[in-house]
Amino acid sequence: MSVAEKTNINILMVSQALQGHVNPMLNFAKRLVSKGVHVTIATTEEGRARMLKNTDQNFSDSGIRLEFFSDGLSIEFDRSDTKTVIKSSREKGAKNLSNLIDNLSKNQTFSCVIVTPFVPWAIDVAAEYQIPCAVLWIQASACYSIYYRYYMKIDSFPKLEDPNEKVHLPGLPTLEVRDLPSIILPSSPPQYDELMADFSKALDKVKWVLGSSFFEIEDEIVKSMDSLTPIYPIGPLVSPSLLGEKETSNVSADMWNADNSSIEWLNSKPNSSVIYISFGSLIVLSKKQMSNLATALKNSRQNFLWVVKAQNNGGFAWEDPAYELPNEFLEETEGRVLVVKWCAQTKVLQHPAVACFISHCGWNSLLETLIIGVPVIAYPSWTDQPTNAMLIENVLKNGVRIKVGEDGVGSVEEIERCVYEVVEGPNAAEFRKRALEIKEAAKKASQDGGSSSVNINKFLCELKVMNGSKSIKVTKMGRPLSTLWKGITKIRSFFSRIIHLG
Ligand code: UDP
Repeated sequence: MSVAEKTNINILMVSQALQGHVNPMLNFAKRLVSKGVHVTIATTEEGRARMLKNTDQNFSDSGIRLEFFSDGLSIEFDRSDTKTVIKSSREKGAKNLSNLIDNLSKNQTFSCVIVTPFVPWAIDVAAEYQIPCAVLWIQASACYSIYYRYYMKIDSFPKLEDPNEKVHLPGLPTLEVRDLPSIILPSSPPQYDELMADFSKALDKVKWVLGSSFFEIEDEIVKSMDSLTPIYPIGPLVSPSLLGEKETSNVSADMWNADNSSIEWLNSKPNSSVIYISFGSLIVLSKKQMSNLATALKNSRQNFLWVVKAQNNGGFAWEDPAYELPNEFLEETEGRVLVVKWCAQTKVLQHPAVACFISHCGWNSLLETLIIGVPVIAYPSWTDQPTNAMLIENVLKNGVRIKVGEDGVGSVEEIERCVYEVVEGPNAAEFRKRALEIKEAAKKASQDGGSSSVNINKFLCELKVMNGSKSIKVTKMGRPLSTLWKGITKIRSFFSRIIHLG
C-alpha cells in the first residue's frame, strides 16, 4: 500500500501561470498522484484560458484539481510590466490565494502547500493557515546554492559590477561574473532582486526545499548545502513518459498549441541531421542575435527546426526585439529549415533526426534534454540561464556555450564554431557519449531506490508523520517551533548524507 493511501495526503501547489513554472509543478503532481496523493494546483487567473484551451483535457479524471486566483490585475494587463505584476501579486494575489484556501478548506484539509520560489508571499499565506510549506525549487540546485549564499550573506561575493571578477563558492567550479544568475547582478531590474530577497527571508517558514534537478549531476553542490538549508533533488521533473513510466494521465499545461508538422518534417530527415533551436516561452531575441544565428545556420549546411515566437509572452526581450526571421532567409534555406511558433518539444527532442539543441538553457528544457540524451549548444540570456550554461560547459560537459559580447550577441563565426564542435568536430562523439551517460544517471535517479525516488518517499513519510502527529505544528505567522525545525534539519541532513553515500 502506498504512503498516501494510508495517510490521505492532500497537497496544494501554488505557481504563477508561466510555462516553465507550471510544467515542473504538473510533472511533480503526476508523480504524487501515482503514489495516491491528492493534488490541487492553484495558479493565476490569467493562465486559465491558455491552460484550459484544449477542451479534450480532463483534469478532474487525472486526480489533479486545477484552481485559479487573481494576481490583482486584469486578464488583459500587459504582464511584461513585471514590476507591477510582482507588486500586485505580493499584495492582492496573496489575499486572493487566502480566499481560495478558505473556500477549498470547507471540504478538505491540506497537509502541505508546495510553492515555487517566485511566489514567496505564498509561503506567508501557508504559514498563516499553519499548513506546512515546501518549496519546489524549479531551477538547478547550483542556483539555489548561489542565491542562498548571496542573500543570506554566507559567502563573500566580489564586486559584481566588474565582469572580470571571479566567484569562489563551495561545490561549484570557480565562477565568472557572467556565470551568475543575472538577478543578483547590478544590471538586473531591482524587482527581481527584491523577489529573491523576499524568498530568502521567507525560507525559515519552509520545511522542505525540493529540487527539480537530480543528485547525480549536482552532488557536490547538494552536499555543500546540507549544513545550511538543505535541498532535496527529486528530479528530473519531466513528464513521466520520458522516464519510461506509465502516465497516470495525459493532461498537460501547454499554453500554446504545438505545430504538429514538426514531427512529420523530422520524419523526412536522416538520423542526427537536424539542429533544434528554441529559446523557451519568455525570451525574445534581438534582431542582431536573430540575424547572426540565421546566417550561421544557413552557412552550416545542416537542417534545422526553429521555434520563433510571434510575440512577447510577458518575459524577457532584448532591445530591438525580433519576431520574424530576416528577409530571404526561408528562401535561401529552403528544404533544410522548418520554422514553427511552438512545438511539442519533448517529442521533437526524442526524434532520432535531432542531433543537438541550441537552447536558451531554461532549466525545464535542459532537464528534458538531459533525460533524452541530446547534446546542447547553450545560448543563455537572463536569470538562471547563464549558470545553467556554465553547468553544461564546465560540469556536465555535454555541450558548449556560445561566447557573447556585452549586448548578448554571439558572432556568426562563434555560432558556426559551436555548431561544428557539437555536430561534427573531433569532440562531437564525446559530447554525445556524455549526454547518454547523463541520460542513464537521470533514469536511475527516478527509479525505485534511486536518489530522487528516495527523496520523494522521504518527503511523503515526513508528511505522513506530521499528518498523524498533533505535536508538530506551525505557529501562527509561520514561526515554526524553531528548535524542532533545526532538529528536523539536522536529522534530514544526516539521513541525506547516508542516502547519498549509499
Ligand atoms: N516548450 C514547448 N514547446 C516549445 C518550446 C518550449 O513545449 O516550442 C516547453 C519546454 O518543453 C519546457 C518549457 O516549454 O518544458 C519551457 O521551460 P524552460 O524552463 O525551458 O524555459 P522558459 O520558458 O521558462 O524560459
